[in-house]
Amino acid sequence: MDPKNIVDKDSSFFGQPGGLQTLFFTEMWERMSYYGMRALLVLFMTASLQEGGLALTVVSATAIYGLYTGSVYFMGLPGGWISDRLLGGQKATWYGGIVIMLGHIVLAIPSEAGFFIGMILVVLGTGLLKPNITAMVGQLYGSTDDRRDGGYTLYYMGINIGSIIGYFVTGYLMENAGYHWGFGAAAVGMAFGLIQYRLTLPKLKGVGAEPPKPLSPAGMKRSWAVIWALLAGLAVFTLLALNDVIYIDPTIIASNVAIVFTVIFFVYYLSIFLFSKLTKNEMKRLGALFLVCIASTCFWAGFEQAGSSFNLFARDLTDRMIGGFEIPTTWFQSLNSIFLVALSPFFAALWINLSKRMINPSYGFKSALGLIIMASGFIVMFFASQAAASGLKVAPYWLVAVYFIHTVGELCLSPVALSAVSKLSPKRMAGQMMGVFVLTYSIGNVVAGLLAGGLNPNDPGAMPDLYWTIFIFGVSVGAIVFVLAFFTRKWEKLAEDDDEHPGAVIDANEPVGRP
Ligand code: GLN
Repeated sequence: MDPKNIVDKDSSFFGQPGGLQTLFFTEMWERMSYYGMRALLVLFMTASLQEGGLALTVVSATAIYGLYTGSVYFMGLPGGWISDRLLGGQKATWYGGIVIMLGHIVLAIPSEAGFFIGMILVVLGTGLLKPNITAMVGQLYGSTDDRRDGGYTLYYMGINIGSIIGYFVTGYLMENAGYHWGFGAAAVGMAFGLIQYRLTLPKLKGVGAEPPKPLSPAGMKRSWAVIWALLAGLAVFTLLALNDVIYIDPTIIASNVAIVFTVIFFVYYLSIFLFSKLTKNEMKRLGALFLVCIASTCFWAGFEQAGSSFNLFARDLTDRMIGGFEIPTTWFQSLNSIFLVALSPFFAALWINLSKRMINPSYGFKSALGLIIMASGFIVMFFASQAAASGLKVAPYWLVAVYFIHTVGELCLSPVALSAVSKLSPKRMAGQMMGVFVLTYSIGNVVAGLLAGGLNPNDPGAMPDLYWTIFIFGVSVGAIVFVLAFFTRKWEKLAEDDDEHPGAVIDANEPVGRP
């Protein structure tokens, strides 16, 4: 039975299908663990040995940070494929969550080997969980159900509520009990997520229960053999690296990985066009999605300064004292999630009001807007870093302003882009396409880590130039996407299957000529 027909009428979770409750809370706890741990990462790596850290340089730490966050999302590509062809979204999410929890448990053990092994496990687990749980959200809706955008906005709020919990809990534990207690809390968070996922699984009513396009039994067997062989190879490589048989320079790897991930993104996208037997409409819809992907990549490259250079800016260059109270460094990052949860309802209302006035900005246009707004935040950092370069610590409101602007940009781009992926991708490739999209996070994150390497708080004089360059680059790409969005908006509106609806336009009321 087609799952969409079963859940069409269900509106038991804030007007959305009950299955959204399951996915909302699972992702909330997963993100609690991810962001909670991530908030400590650069601080832990750059802290001295006496402070319980790893005493790495800023350049190495930020490169490792970028590599880690980039790999987390890169693994979404195989993770999405595994779901579409081998496991289905439900099992992929479940096993992914278990591996993530194990990763955080290993991180909680104070040892350098445990630190790297734990990170690898989180990378593998998130690759399985993240794209597939996100794709399942879209599968709760029929193709004409207009609750999809609202569903993704709600889901995105769940992500950020989880992040807030993560930042506060791990940040508090880090300062009062030590880094490894923070990592342990992330494991507990993921365990909560897994328990509630298991208990509320029936609410999904079959969504993601089976792979949408399973391989033959022989093909499955071969694929699992390859997957286990690759994992064994990874284990051997890790052992050799930990025993210094192989030397890894994180900065060199990070810059090459950024190139490799970008090439993989283009090749994968092109091969979908060439080999996936797409109909003409599917090709155009994926063309429109490509534009959103470009905007998304550039957006995250700037936005993801949050965990690295902004984090260090907060720690070393910001006056965090309010009276006798010192604001913990990690709290600044939580501003993004706090603003996001607070602003989400306004944005939901804004899109609804605009659409009542027959203004329905396309996915491409909203993405361009998000990118331009985010880039504008770097003007603030330009002035903040100029002030810091004079030698005095700067007031906290600089970072508060940047996080506010970045969050407004995020709300224009990120939940919108998730909805675009789910709407514009062929259903048989739902997991894979979400994996391809998550790759834009990945490239953005690695580039962000590399940029952050040039933003050393010990040398604030070098910061303004780089922040200014990021601003110019972001605004320029945003302007190009804006112009191209005029062309792709028609493609976004095409019906999924041009055999069923030749040349059909879904929303005939859409005003022509508006972005
Ligand atoms: N905050 C969003 C999430 O966790 C986006 C993440 C990202 O780095 N692109 O899903």
